[in-house]
Amino acid sequence: MNIDLSRRGFLRLAGAGVAATSLGAMGFGEAEAAELAHVRAFKLATTTETRNTCPYCSVACGVIMYSNGDVKTGETAEIIHIEGDADHPTNRGTLCPKGAALKDFVKAPTRLTMPRHRAAGASEFQEISWDEALTKIARALKDDRDANLVQTNDAGVTVNRWTSTGFLAASATTNETAWLTYKVVRSMGIVGFDNQARV
Ligand code: SF4
Repeated sequence: MNIDLSRRGFLRLAGAGVAATSLGAMGFGEAEAAELAHVRAFKLATTTETRNTCPYCSVACGVIMYSNGDVKTGETAEIIHIEGDADHPTNRGTLCPKGAALKDFVKAPTRLTMPRHRAAGASEFQEISWDEALTKIARALKDDRDANLVQTNDAGVTVNRWTSTGFLAASATTNETAWLTYKVVRSMGIVGFDNQARV
């Protein structure tokens, strides 16, 4: 229950509440109605809850994002509140100041929401689609690996090292995502591998 009141107003309302409860018990319903008129509706009651992971650091605290707009019916979700997930085993509902300010991060006008590409020789980045970006990345990875994979060392031992490409992964992921990322990167032979928690 959210009540927008000063301390003095709260005491007055608390007194009125006791009186209203007593009066209500005696059949004075208007007093209770007047008291209820001071109570704002709980702002999260009709929102959609989406669980996620704080993107900032490798603690990977669980968060719940509350949004208006039913995406299942084609509406655009509008996040109105983010708080710690009390059921998450890592943070048990708590967030540090960075995590507690996540809504500002999501709403920041400078936040990038699409991939950008700066063509060779160009001075400006251009927004491109995710399909274009992933195709470019896959092409560049394949070409570089074909050209630079070191399959054996000087002694003829198979090493399969790919040292000309590095990979920066996100630290704020679940164990399962981290495990998959590690397997994919290492199976390609990439040696230079890190995440943003150490940057
Ligand atoms: S809430 Fe703070 S400690 Fe938790 S993941 Fe985010 S930045 Fe890290």
